[in-house]
Amino acid sequence: MIRVSTFAGRTLALFGLGVSGNATARALLAGGAEVAAWDDNPEARAAAGAAGVPIVVLASADWRRFAALVLAPGVPLTHPEPHWTVARARAAGVEIIGDVELFCRERARRCPDAPFVAITGTNGKSTTTALIAHLLGAAGRDVAMGGNIGTPILALPEPAANRIHVIEMSSFQIDLTPSLAPTVGVLLNLTPDHLDRHGTMESYAAIKERLVAASEYPAVGLDDAYCRAIAERLQASGRRVDAFSCQRPVPGGWSADGSRLVSHAAWAGLDGAFADLDGIGTLRGRHNAQNALAASVAALRLGIGAGQIGTALASFPGLPHRMEEVGRAGRVLFINDSKATNADSTEKALASFPRDIYWIAGGRPKEGGIEPLREYFPRIGKAYLIGESAEAFAATLGAAVPVEQSGTLETAIKSAARDAALNAGGEPVVLLSPACASYDQFRNFEQRGDAFRRLVAALPGVAAAESS
Ligand code: ADP
Repeated sequence: MIRVSTFAGRTLALFGLGVSGNATARALLAGGAEVAAWDDNPEARAAAGAAGVPIVVLASADWRRFAALVLAPGVPLTHPEPHWTVARARAAGVEIIGDVELFCRERARRCPDAPFVAITGTNGKSTTTALIAHLLGAAGRDVAMGGNIGTPILALPEPAANRIHVIEMSSFQIDLTPSLAPTVGVLLNLTPDHLDRHGTMESYAAIKERLVAASEYPAVGLDDAYCRAIAERLQASGRRVDAFSCQRPVPGGWSADGSRLVSHAAWAGLDGAFADLDGIGTLRGRHNAQNALAASVAALRLGIGAGQIGTALASFPGLPHRMEEVGRAGRVLFINDSKATNADSTEKALASFPRDIYWIAGGRPKEGGIEPLREYFPRIGKAYLIGESAEAFAATLGAAVPVEQSGTLETAIKSAARDAALNAGGEPVVLLSPACASYDQFRNFEQRGDAFRRLVAALPGVAAAESS
């Protein structure tokens, strides 16, 4: 745990008692601050109270006594409208911050040179964060990984001169971190997302831009217009940017040539291919080349050699539910991509396999359905439809793809495994990449992916993957 000493002797309001809110309360109390915590959910209040977090009715509190409001990142700061605690804090002139801000102030006070990597983007944040931590860990560095992935930042070990904090940040967290100034800042990509919470694409992009603009070493992906504009603005202001693309060569920067990662960055002493993703099952697909480029930049900036990076990429264990290889039966590969809850994500999965895809899809559909996936239909051997979207998806697939209305995941897996096994001479893959939310049949995408993994492991002749 990181003791937060910067508010010692003062009282903070804390709203939102999920996992990170509870960690924040503990970190503040351990550092000598007083906490007045609240959550609109009575169960969350009761659990936190039982764990020793002081619960105070913030609605009737005198807000002038608070030194700050620490807000959980899920709570609206601006859109669709500011949360009532935000309105109260503003009226009383109380600053509004998040847990990463508390970390940044602590680092600035106690160990300003402690290496700190922050990662953001619309897609690929968790993969890139985990990959950076893996590359650093493989080189023997002391790594503390968390933030928007896994462990809340204040539950991680304290900042130290030889300890690297690798932190995934959502736009909400950046918005609550005014003194964010990482050593290496990574912005992967930007596509419309969470606009209900940020109003416009421009304000969403502006929040993400802050992370790299404030970094000592900014790294920015060039594969969308918003990020390209951000990289150009930084360069125009005299900043040296590590620019990377998985779509085209980047003079002086970082790119992917097929599966090979290429750098022409003079500072890194590189001028050509320095690693190859071919055969690395956990980094399939062009989107993962983008993630691997970003991770390599960060690792190199922190002093890891290119040779070490090339070797360590191959041992990346990957993250559960994201193109996770869960088993094999003869030549048939089983992939759990349950995290793909929209067509955009499923596109990445379908693009990763050239043919013979036995595709399990469906659930609670998102706007636009699977229409954007049409160009990948020829790669699909057969589709196995589950959940509420089944009729609509069948209509979109039409005559282009053979379809089974499987109904449940269990039936879909059995049918897909049977059909894939009959594909002599191909490279069959049974792929769960639903392009839908899971809530009609499962609690969340994790539960859906866990069910897939379990059902696959129970099939006759399946060798489960080591990591599962
Ligand atoms: P995030 O943490 O940003 O949600 P993840 O690393 O968990 O991202 O990946 C979620 C999904 O997003 C993956 O299953 C994949 O479909 C897609 N994805 C991963 N990396 C990228 C990328 N660089 N660009 C576009 N899509 C990506």
